[in-house]
Amino acid sequence: MVKVNQNYLKLPGSYLFSEVARRIAAHSAAHPEAKIIKLSIGDVTRPLVPAVVEAMHKAVDEQGTYAGFHGYGPEQGYPFLREAIAQFDYQKRGVDIQPQEIFISDGAKSDCGNIGDIFDVDNVVAVCDPVYPVYVDTNAMAGRAGDFMPELGRWSRLVYMPCVESNGFMPEPPKEKVDIIYLCFPNNPTGSMATREQLKMWVDYANKNGSIILYDSAYEAFISDPDIPHTIFEIEGARTCAIEFRSFSKTAGFTGTRCAYTVVPMELERDGAKLNTMWNRRQTTKFNGVPYIVQRGAEAVYTPEGRRQIMESIAYYQNNAKVIREGLTAAGLECFGGVNAPYIWIKTPNGMPSWDFFDLVLAKANVATTPGVGFGPSGEGFARLTAFGDAEATKEAVERVKAIL
Ligand SMILES: *Cc1c(COP(=O)(O)O)cnc(C)c1O
Repeated sequence: MVKVNQNYLKLPGSYLFSEVARRIAAHSAAHPEAKIIKLSIGDVTRPLVPAVVEAMHKAVDEQGTYAGFHGYGPEQGYPFLREAIAQFDYQKRGVDIQPQEIFISDGAKSDCGNIGDIFDVDNVVAVCDPVYPVYVDTNAMAGRAGDFMPELGRWSRLVYMPCVESNGFMPEPPKEKVDIIYLCFPNNPTGSMATREQLKMWVDYANKNGSIILYDSAYEAFISDPDIPHTIFEIEGARTCAIEFRSFSKTAGFTGTRCAYTVVPMELERDGAKLNTMWNRRQTTKFNGVPYIVQRGAEAVYTPEGRRQIMESIAYYQNNAKVIREGLTAAGLECFGGVNAPYIWIKTPNGMPSWDFFDLVLAKANVATTPGVGFGPSGEGFARLTAFGDAEATKEAVERVKAIL
């Protein structure tokens, strides 16, 4: 008789987004005339830029010819894309990352989850609270999280690093020794960004303790502050303790096109094993690469026109973030993030619980938000608003929320 992976049975239902959707649907059914604006969407809305579309069209045509046809590509990604990434995302910033250290994939979500394959089940994992749920659930599936404790909203074997107002939404190194540390900057959901000094502190901690930092930088393109590091590899010592995840999803609207990459430095070793070799082994065994057409599209992001066009889209979202942040601050709400990130993390008025605030804003303003508590216990009393919507709708949503406060 087959036994299933018992770890899956320990997972609580994915409550947050299904509950948000359920409440929006119920409100909509009760008020069919209401025009609901969703400041809760975590997906981009602007289309692929012309440079990307053109490059993909060309690649489609190539695929239809004997001369230009590409079958299985290298599992690690085509050299043209690995080289463009190494050059434009790293070497241009003075960071020495080589193409062999870059693995192209179909998503940062998959990579953040799959990376656990190369680590022992006994490692102690630290996550931020609030957190992008993928880090937590994938470790739970692997048996690294212990048991879920519903009354606390936490897993017994994970170490939670509260990111709260009093520490500027910056995780602090845990008292206990931890092996694997997930960091996400610019942060989803709080919109916070780590300074060079803060990242240096984490790199030093990891090198001292033999830990590994899994650095998710999916929102790197949103960094606007010139003093903020764009990659953890700008920090001295990171090559011996960090793996970085990046994605074209939020950078270039690839959420439905799928392309991302993971950087595993050659120096990174644990237990005498090179993690680059291990990840290569994992990918070549379990993954057959990203479509040629998609990689050509991603390459076009690094051309001068591609660059200019995607930066226009990013600027559009950044302006939405500014509209939300400034509008709601003027209305008396405390707002965090939204400067180097497309997320604005707002404190609910008078300590109102997240779900009460969600219900209030939905009922009175027809605006959907995401309750902060859904990202972890320390998110209670907050709401996440996103800048990925239409500019006019975003403005209107802010006016409506202002009017009810
Ligand atoms: C959107 C997002 C990603 C990107 O995931 P893809 O699978 O590349 O689309 C990764 N990490 C975080 C925190 C995100 O919000």
